[in-house]
Amino acid sequence: MRRAISVHPSRRGLLGLGLALSALAWRSARAATAPTPPADGIPNLSKSAVGYRDIPERDKQCSHCRWFLAASDPSAAGHCQLVAGEISPSGWCDVWTPHA
Ligand code: SF4
Repeated sequence: MRRAISVHPSRRGLLGLGLALSALAWRSARAATAPTPPADGIPNLSKSAVGYRDIPERDKQCSHCRWFLAASDPSAAGHCQLVAGEISPSGWCDVWTPHA
């Protein structure tokens, strides 16, 4: 005797699938738009273009960003691989990216 198999997905299952697909789409879009340092090594984003400020955004700050280049004195201004000019270790901007 054969048992009938239901092919009607539950609402919970559909919701979970929708959330998983949304998360995948978000990660793909973010990866596609993630900034990368210019090939010539010279930062080409202005501070105003990325909303740079000299204060951290909660636990996000330049000294914890993968693009930050610290000075020999860690409390002194350093540089950024993306943003032109001197960068405060306790600054922050819209393209902050944690260390991998
Ligand atoms: S937060 Fe912005 S300015 Fe600071 S190091 Fe990262 S990318 Fe550069």
